[in-house]
Amino acid sequence: MLEVSGLQASYGAGQVLFGVDLRVGEGEVVTLLGRNGMGKTTTVNAIMGLLAPKAGRVAFCGRELTGRPAHEAARAGLGLVPEGRQIFPNLTVRENLVATANGGADGRGAWTLERVFALFPRLQERQDQMGSSLSGGEQQMLAIGRALMTNPRLLLLDEATEGLAPLIRKEIWQVLLSLKRAGQSILVIDKNVKALKRIADRHYVLEKGRIVWQGSSAELEAERERLERHLGV
Ligand code: ADP
Repeated sequence: MLEVSGLQASYGAGQVLFGVDLRVGEGEVVTLLGRNGMGKTTTVNAIMGLLAPKAGRVAFCGRELTGRPAHEAARAGLGLVPEGRQIFPNLTVRENLVATANGGADGRGAWTLERVFALFPRLQERQDQMGSSLSGGEQQMLAIGRALMTNPRLLLLDEATEGLAPLIRKEIWQVLLSLKRAGQSILVIDKNVKALKRIADRHYVLEKGRIVWQGSSAELEAERERLERHLGV
């Protein structure tokens, strides 16, 4: 479904990605692992059209997205939960959820407020509160709910549980697992390799803008020691 090949990206004169290849298949949960500063967010931003790549190709469901603006990526069915959540602080929870909602790329429109509230009962309780009044964990739930309301064919999460309390993290992992069971395709960035090994099908390890390893969860477990220095665990 997502095909990224030879992706290169720079900030000014500083090149950050040196030819990233990765793919996500229909219904797959795939991770992008690596220590801080290795280029994970840059990869996601280049896929989403938030940063114009220097070279390489991004294709999604047979559609050419390379260098196209972010609204086209969204329309094609890419739903981003950005690093730092970036919810609208001056809108209520409910308004945040409906502000960018749409029926999705194939127009089936399966996600509704009711379904998001069933997934995150806490958001229902707080539906009339301002985004700014939520805890970090609630904001992350809101960011996930908001992305789901666009009915994405592929959900991308940049730092899924960064900075969240252990119980909230567990809740987020549980939600991702239930989404996976429902057939949702997901590309996820996080540092929690242990949780990701349980949830994800395949993994990519990024080191200084290059994919240095890829494999299944079983392979990741088998090669854990060798990979530890790339993962910073
Ligand atoms: P990761 O997500 O793996 O932590 P990033 O993609 O955020 O890594 O960053 C990769 C590199 O690009 C880092 O060296 C970072 O300092 C640099 N970088 C990230 N964003 C910018 C920016 N807006 N301007 C300049 N350099 C940046």
